[in-house]
Amino acid sequence: LFLGSRHESTATASDSGNPPPPPAEKYEYQAEVSRLMDLIVNSLYSNKDVFLRELISNASDALDKLRYLSVTDSQLLKEAVDLDIRIQTDKDNGIITITDSGIGMTRQELVDCLGTIAQSGTAKFLKAVKESKDAGTDNNLIGQFGVGFYSAFLVSDKVVVSTKSPKSDKQYVWEGEANASSYTIREETNPENLIPRGTRLTLYLKRDDKGFAHPERIQKLVKNYSQFVSFPIYTWQEKG
Ligand code: ADP
Ligand code: MG
Repeated sequence: LFLGSRHESTATASDSGNPPPPPAEKYEYQAEVSRLMDLIVNSLYSNKDVFLRELISNASDALDKLRYLSVTDSQLLKEAVDLDIRIQTDKDNGIITITDSGIGMTRQELVDCLGTIAQSGTAKFLKAVKESKDAGTDNNLIGQFGVGFYSAFLVSDKVVVSTKSPKSDKQYVWEGEANASSYTIREETNPENLIPRGTRLTLYLKRDDKGFAHPERIQKLVKNYSQFVSFPIYTWQEKG
């Protein structure tokens, strides 16, 4: 199992009296992830809506996991927050945030889950893409297989994942950009971004996809998917 190489980036000097936050660390994606990202970013796939289905299903999985594990480990619920999914849109800036109060990820889990592919489904997808290359019919495969978390890059230039696991006392931020071969992880130091538990995804939409940050559009998509989700999903529009 290849977990990616790790480079320290240079620390920036702090001019306040506080010690500077630990620097962001840069990690290379596993080769399969890079291939998948390339395919997603360069795809002509038009049904980009699927990104929301994938991200809502991840949020729902994270809440299910928390609920399941808390049966034997009630400590996991020590932060008394509701089990739900919140989707906020900022249409002026083309930003969508999706927050769940689920199991979250530790720093190591961020590396393992969002830097590598352990999924046989994704391996099948990559194989199918290879096989259909000659036929030139790979545009439909993304929808057919579902490409999970990375489908965020169907519509986003940049994705920021800020996450707090009940197993860790720190919150971590994963940041990745379309067309990049690496991502970074750092500690969350902005008090405004701290969450008691779970995961917040911030999607910085591509210029042509900013329309997804319109509340009506999100609400319509959420309505389609929420029937398969057993947790409440709230949506609202940031004040403009
Ligand atoms: P899959 O859902 O099929 O496992 P994804 O690419 O959608 O594949 O997600 C990869 C992994 O990243 C998940 O298995 C999970 O461990 C982690 N993950 C993604 N989103 C979240 C989230 N909102 N909360 C906690 N873990 C997550
Ligand atoms: Mg998934």
